[in-house]
Amino acid sequence: MAITDKIYVKNHQQLASQLETSIPKGAFSGATLDLLFQGEGLAKLDDATRDRVLDFAEDFLDCDCQASPHCGHPEEKFVHYLLDLRAQGLGPDAIVDVMGDDYMLYAYPGDILSFLDQSVRTLEAVETLADVDGDEEMARRAGERRRDLVR
Ligand SMILES: [Zn+2]
Repeated sequence: MAITDKIYVKNHQQLASQLETSIPKGAFSGATLDLLFQGEGLAKLDDATRDRVLDFAEDFLDCDCQASPHCGHPEEKFVHYLLDLRAQGLGPDAIVDVMGDDYMLYAYPGDILSFLDQSVRTLEAVETLADVDGDEEMARRAGERRRDLVR
């Protein structure tokens, strides 16, 4: 399962009742994305909630793909967001706090930790393969990104 399948809407019940509809807990599940993307019913949200939801839509659902928001880019952007936070030196607990403040989302710190570990291992593999292939540029870039995540 991808990490984006384990990102949840905080105050999910409250949000659903403000919207007068039921929404899945998963922030990146299709029905939630559709709802946010169409913007229908967002007027029913209180100001603080609406600001967060709009920030999320602006930051992650802003591509022009025909299939948007189901084109995979929102998930990709969110993964970058998580890796950026890690590169800024944040640990799993702090990352969960920040996503709550920024977008009213939550995740289990243990899931974030596994995701970060997995990312480091993936970059290690990329680095090794690039070395074997003699692709110094790729090896250097993967190595840099990996060191950002483990420092
Ligand atoms: Zn896209």
